[in-house]
Amino acid sequence: MAVPNPVTQGRLFKGVFICMRCNCKMRSDPIRVKRGLVICRKCGYKGLRPKKRLVKAKA
Ligand SMILES: [Zn+2]
Repeated sequence: MAVPNPVTQGRLFKGVFICMRCNCKMRSDPIRVKRGLVICRKCGYKGLRPKKRLVKAKA
């Protein structure tokens, strides 16, 4: 039970990825994203980046 898991660190952004093509937010397993198994539902683009940082721009 004491396994160091990065999932616990990014609790808020757990499994949240953003498509670099259409900038749509989606939730999926980080392991699948690293392997390139996850694609965007809207545009079908593989370029996904994990959402770790807060957005600077405040609308
Ligand atoms: Zn997309």
